[in-house]
Amino acid sequence: MLDKPVLTIALSKGRILEQTLPLLEFAGLMPVEDVQTTRKLMVDGPDDWAGSKIRFLIIRAADVCTYVEKGAADLGISGRDLLLESKPHVYEPLDLKIGKCRLCVCGPKASVEAGDSAVKSGRIRVATKYDHLTAQHYLKQGIHADVIHLYGSMELAPLVGLADRIVDVVETGNTLKANGLVEETTLFDISSRLIANPASFVTKKKQVQAVITRLREAVEQREKNK
Ligand code: AMP
Repeated sequence: MLDKPVLTIALSKGRILEQTLPLLEFAGLMPVEDVQTTRKLMVDGPDDWAGSKIRFLIIRAADVCTYVEKGAADLGISGRDLLLESKPHVYEPLDLKIGKCRLCVCGPKASVEAGDSAVKSGRIRVATKYDHLTAQHYLKQGIHADVIHLYGSMELAPLVGLADRIVDVVETGNTLKANGLVEETTLFDISSRLIANPASFVTKKKQVQAVITRLREAVEQREKNK
């Protein structure tokens, strides 16, 4: 007898995982182990789900696009911010309406509130992990952004004079407030998206469509119960 096809789903570690699990549970797509505590990076899911064996990869949010684009995963869950920044060649069939936040330009309270653009001789120093989106945003205004790439704790950069502004994800605004920063401009709203490898979309059409349908129902149910 032929082995069942395997459908691989890449999930991001961290804050999105907690919100993803109830959607997976509704869809009958639960990992067999607690993915929030296990040190395993590959975890089995149901053995027979719409004719497939399900397997989960537990990876960093920034790597999900790469795994799905290269076909190492058939499906994945990624934030819109990362999709817009890296523009991977993947399909984006469903807004999961979780991980909601926004990408903003932020700066020291006094400078933003005084309407000081912080642009000096057509240039501005901006700390971010969103290099392309930041450069594009300023370019549209005819400003050259000296992008300072950081991997985290962006909020520190203006406090120590490393940057004039930051471009970062804001959810509650508490981190900004705790560091004396405020929002200057919102670039766009963010939520997590289900993404699919274009080849898997064709070769595993039935299973991929089944996941989309069940997760869509899970999202609708969640929205109704809010
Ligand atoms: P907050 O204090 O709730 O505004 O959260 C801001 C901090 O959490 C920033 O350092 C962000 O990088 C991070 N953050 C907030 N929301 C998200 C999200 N949905 N995905 C990834 N990082 C986030």
